[in-house]
Amino acid sequence: MSPAPSARRPIIKDRDVFGFGYVPPDLPHRDKQLARLYSMFSQVVERSIPQTAFVTGGVGLGKTVMAKKFCSEMEEAGRKAGKNILAEIINCRNFNTPSSVLHEVITRRFQDHLQIKGFSVPDMLTILRKKLEKDHAHLVLVLDEANALVKESGCDLIYNFTRFDENSSGAQGHLSLMLISQFDVYQWLDAATTSTFKRANTITLPPYDAEELTDILIQRAELGLFPGTWTKELLEMIADIAAGESGDARRAIGPLGDAARAAEERQKDRITPDLLQRAHAEEYGGLPLERLDGLERHQLLALLGIARAMRKKEFINTGDAERAYHVVCEENGEKPRGHTQFWKYLQKLDSHGIIDTRTAHEGTAGTTTQITLHSITPSRLADMVAKVLAQSGRGGKD
Ligand code: ADP
Ligand code: MG
Repeated sequence: MSPAPSARRPIIKDRDVFGFGYVPPDLPHRDKQLARLYSMFSQVVERSIPQTAFVTGGVGLGKTVMAKKFCSEMEEAGRKAGKNILAEIINCRNFNTPSSVLHEVITRRFQDHLQIKGFSVPDMLTILRKKLEKDHAHLVLVLDEANALVKESGCDLIYNFTRFDENSSGAQGHLSLMLISQFDVYQWLDAATTSTFKRANTITLPPYDAEELTDILIQRAELGLFPGTWTKELLEMIADIAAGESGDARRAIGPLGDAARAAEERQKDRITPDLLQRAHAEEYGGLPLERLDGLERHQLLALLGIARAMRKKEFINTGDAERAYHVVCEENGEKPRGHTQFWKYLQKLDSHGIIDTRTAHEGTAGTTTQITLHSITPSRLADMVAKVLAQSGRGGKD
């Protein structure tokens, strides 16, 4: 009988913390970049002088979350200075034509979708300019994933935005522009557009290293999880993995949230390393097929046994693995090799980076060797191995 739900100890304190789009109170290891942005845009707040900036960097390096923080800080700074600053982020993957971008900005800010339907791009630019003038407002427009707009529609809109205040008198203006892209969009902009874009205002975000990711994870864990359900070592483990891959914060935060949910579902009182590894593998795992190259038939049979046995457990010991190997051999009409030989198979699979074997202490029973998988889920691995075995056939290499 399963225990009543009330017997469960909750793991997750605040689900939103792991949700898409959550903005934490501060951004560890992005304070320097944010400070640079604020200083670039200080003249916007103080004197309404238009500015341009470009933020670039790989996936999951905090571009979007920085932009969100930046936008709310800009509006706040405007309020404090008695200026009407509007800051808006448009994701150009969703709005990749000039008219859809303009339509979105105007309707979001001025709830005017009925009136602007069917207008041309120049008309909409005029409407936007007039509205901003009327409200004495300065719009800080962030085009996130700007490459999607440029790719689909060229750089006309960006050009128009950089000349937005051309006809107004003085240095003051109504529109500042920030482009965000994983790629260097400068190379796609034409000379007329880049001439008004300050290339020096480029911020390139570096990938996070393991220590930085650990800090980011500690922040999330403190905000979203109950104390005692996680340890720093646990977070370091996933931070190491994510840093080794690409330094993408999403690859660290996502699995932590998933592992927390899995721990709750399994009525655990804390998040275990295995749940975390599994959550990471589930989302990002994948083992190159080449890793299986050069494995003999019985090594593959042993691996299939391990993969199957791991479907139901977080980790298995060598005894479980050997029993599973025997079952697989029987199914395949093979005579299982002896115990010593099986150990050699395990060593081989470990050295190929497919499984991970480590010694664990098991109460009074002494030590045991535990097996876990590297960056792949048991069911995916089982499918992969079964295919390779089927291809090699019964008369395959041994
Ligand atoms: P990008 O836009 O560069 O692909 P995001 O800004 O979407 O990356 O960041 C990916 C995830 O990592 C988001 O959940 C974001 O909140 C989080 N994140 C990124 N950098 C930080 C940071 N320095 N501190 C806290 N969370 C971060
Ligand atoms: Mg982004």
